Amino acid sequence: MGSIELEAFDVSRIRNFSIIAHVDHGKSTLADRLLELAQTITKRKDNKQVLDKLKVERERGITVKAQSASMFYDYKGKRYLLNLIDTPGHMDFNFEVSRSLAACQGTLLLVDAAQGIQAQTVANFYLAYGLDITIIPVINKVRLNRFVGKIDLPAADPKRVASQIEVAFEMPADDCLEISAKSNLNVDQILPKIIETVPSPSGDINKPFKALLFDSWHDTYVGVICLMAVIDGTVKKGDRIVSAHSERRYEVTETGIMYPEQTPTSSLQAGQVGYFVLNMKTLSESHVGDTFFDHKHIGTPMPGFVPAKPMVWAGIFPIDTADFEKLDHSIAKLTLSDSSVMIQKETSTALGQGWRLGFLGTLHMDVFRQRLEQEYDANIIITAPTVPYKIEYQDGAQKLIRNPTEFPEMDELNAKVKSVQEPMVRSTIIFPKEYLGDIMVLCGSRRGVQLEHTYLDESRVLLKYRLPLAEVVTDFHDELKGRSSGFASFDYEEDGYDDADLVKMNIVLNSKPVDALSIILHRSQAELVARDWVKRLKSLLSRQLFEIVIQASVGNKVIAREGLSALRKNVTAKCYGGDISRKMKLLNKQKEGKKRMKAIGGVEVSQEAFYDFMSKKK
Ligand code: GDP
Ligand code: MG
Repeated sequence: MGSIELEAFDVSRIRNFSIIAHVDHGKSTLADRLLELAQTITKRKDNKQVLDKLKVERERGITVKAQSASMFYDYKGKRYLLNLIDTPGHMDFNFEVSRSLAACQGTLLLVDAAQGIQAQTVANFYLAYGLDITIIPVINKVRLNRFVGKIDLPAADPKRVASQIEVAFEMPADDCLEISAKSNLNVDQILPKIIETVPSPSGDINKPFKALLFDSWHDTYVGVICLMAVIDGTVKKGDRIVSAHSERRYEVTETGIMYPEQTPTSSLQAGQVGYFVLNMKTLSESHVGDTFFDHKHIGTPMPGFVPAKPMVWAGIFPIDTADFEKLDHSIAKLTLSDSSVMIQKETSTALGQGWRLGFLGTLHMDVFRQRLEQEYDANIIITAPTVPYKIEYQDGAQKLIRNPTEFPEMDELNAKVKSVQEPMVRSTIIFPKEYLGDIMVLCGSRRGVQLEHTYLDESRVLLKYRLPLAEVVTDFHDELKGRSSGFASFDYEEDGYDDADLVKMNIVLNSKPVDALSIILHRSQAELVARDWVKRLKSLLSRQLFEIVIQASVGNKVIAREGLSALRKNVTAKCYGGDISRKMKLLNKQKEGKKRMKAIGGVEVSQEAFYDFMSKKK
């Protein structure tokens, strides 16, 4: 394959832009349409999004990892190099959105014509606004004409959405482009609008080389691949560059653009966005937000990004302890392609050896689990997620807790701890006004404090609440959907730590504490949760040959208790008499059942029971 020459594309011929939107509003579909328009890809028959490369992305229809793509587009007699950066829409991946935006001068703010502005539309708008990027409002899924067939969504109401955009973002309703990514309506107006309104990058080709690293991943064949926005100068194969973060030097072994697959170029220069292959050994050497310089001209680094902090921690254990090595290998491999996951080893008396993993949010955790199961065939148990808590002791010592087992027991808490703090979030919730009462009750029951209450139009409400993150990471989103018939959308951003009256609840099975089931709770909720947990545990545990006592305790105090009486009939009794093959069948069946069991506190718990319990299914 020959390499593409990009020398003719000086900054005036370059536009770097992204698409931001609430999930499912059509970003990836529009990205495909734009690439087709610029003939970077040909239309796929199966209609799958080209930019969603991971299997889980295809299955879930969400974009987890930002993917960028370059295209060439002729406009008014000139050829332009346009770099599109597709961004993930879910709040867990806001970090990916902001680092993608840092490489852009413009963004398309895409809003579904039937759904209107949703919580992530608001969050993404403010990310772009804060970076001073040109924002082009685009309304998607618009029907061609009210009277011409069912070209697109019958419920589309672009005029209403345009006025919401005016109310929420102070952008004139008339400026909104009305398109349909599905039927291609007005899609041809987008690239010209980008060329006309988005400023070209401001770099200088005559200055020494300088570039911003905004994404990286591991490729089985080539090793570490870095996506960079070249700020100044030029770079080509054989050049030596240096990282501002680590001061390590690298030789450039390949440069190229995502077209949309990796395509080598003879060089990359000021304003261009492309990939670099450097002699990097591991992904951990590529620090997102890092600035690279020509090795002889080290200047001032770019501001960089605040790294994503994992805010949801959970223990992962193999169902079968013999799988430990294999799982260890799988987790190591999977984290190669997802550097935002933090790992440490963990040992639980109930579940054996495992890992404690830190995720950006619960969706991130879910995606990771699903990839482990699908791509690596893993059989795992994952504990209830915990947020990080800060403990300050009276002697001034501080501790960050990511595992309920590390939380001080009651006597220590009373005698030595000065304060316990929990992470807080500012959340945005948008929904039709008839659900207002129910949603306010929900937020109140989750210790929320209302910050704002506005109407986007006569029927849609925007609420802002300050809530403890711990209340949000469990089933808050499901509850919100349930109480609003699926119409509420929700997003949050971190908002510091607050003092809180927290305690640790332990679950005790036949007087043996099950460490993997310990949980940190607000004192006021302990009793309610305790009763719910022991009841649910009782319904999920199967009766065994002995009596099982299930208790929940805080400190020395038992706050809830359930009992499961012993099974009277002995299973082996079934084996007497009858024909031998039936007996063997029964024994084999029991053996198979055993494989999927985990002995916890001397009580056998099936994988399903544990899993259902952890995922709060009744
Ligand atoms: P993303 O989550 O923002 O990337 O959204 P996708 O591009 O994955 O699209 C979400 C869903 O909306 C998919 O089922 C698309 O087929 C559909 N979709 C995208 N654009 C349009 C459109 O213009 N009209 C209609 N009716 N559906 C669309
Ligand atoms: Mg997508």
